[in-house]
Amino acid sequence: MITVVGSYNVDFILKVDKFPEEGETVFAKDIYISHGGKGSNQAVSASRLGAKVRLIAAVGNDEYGRRAISFWEDEKIDVGYVKIKNAPTGSAYIIVNENGQNMIVVNRGANIFLLPEDLNSELKGEVMLTQLEIREDTVKKALREFNGLRILNPAPATLNDISILDYVDILTPNEVEFKELSGADDLDYGIEVLLKKVKKAVIITLGEKGALIGMRNKRIRVETMKVNAIDTTGAGDVFNATLAVYLEKGYEIERAVRIANIIAAYSTTKIGALGPRLEEVKSLIEE
Ligand code: ADP
Repeated sequence: MITVVGSYNVDFILKVDKFPEEGETVFAKDIYISHGGKGSNQAVSASRLGAKVRLIAAVGNDEYGRRAISFWEDEKIDVGYVKIKNAPTGSAYIIVNENGQNMIVVNRGANIFLLPEDLNSELKGEVMLTQLEIREDTVKKALREFNGLRILNPAPATLNDISILDYVDILTPNEVEFKELSGADDLDYGIEVLLKKVKKAVIITLGEKGALIGMRNKRIRVETMKVNAIDTTGAGDVFNATLAVYLEKGYEIERAVRIANIIAAYSTTKIGALGPRLEEVKSLIEE
């Protein structure tokens, strides 16, 4: 069982020719509405690879919250610990211009109300996967009290309570998050800094350059698959989900990272933040 503790947002993606200036109104060319939030994305991507997944997240008592729960049920996720809060379901407003640049406003809504006291008996299992889009005190309790392998994807990069890292086995920053957390530009030195806190490994994702695994006295560069990427949104989420799935199966870290790279690379060849189903990618993975 993989326990994901994290966020849910409805994403409203608006395509425009150009961003509005202050006080200006522009018309959208298109709108896409999709399920988002790193917690939800990672839970769904893990479930699609065949893992048993339980999601601990909070939604509002509204139509978006109900749709989220029914989406997770369709994706075969255990929603027994999803909390319904007296706040709107989280939402993100993503404006994308002609050049593919974006401006984003997030209303965190119910996500902020997922409290440490909402977590209890579910903190048992093989693997926990969490991120930083929910309250840090909730993330801390989840990691501190979990009795299995704990993975923290430190996204977004802001971490106020650095002691959270004391309860992490595997930390999975991308390059930006890595620099922010370690305070170092140099990969080797930054890994040393973070390994003073994190228990087992720091895995830095490097986009098309794959990933770097840092363990005590060991560095392993793992190349990814060459692809024609058309949408890298959520590549990190697919990477983390896949890593959790294969570590839960008992794979060594290096082998799990190899597969996570392949499936994350594959996911960039498709539109959207969610990963593929196992049947679709089985032939790419030599198990
Ligand atoms: P994030 O999405 O969090 O910014 P990265 O950009 O590092 O994280 O991407 C996560 C993983 O997705 C990478 O380690 C890699 O395996 C895969 N990936 C991302 N972009 C590409 C790409 N252009 N080509 C191949 N793989 C990619």
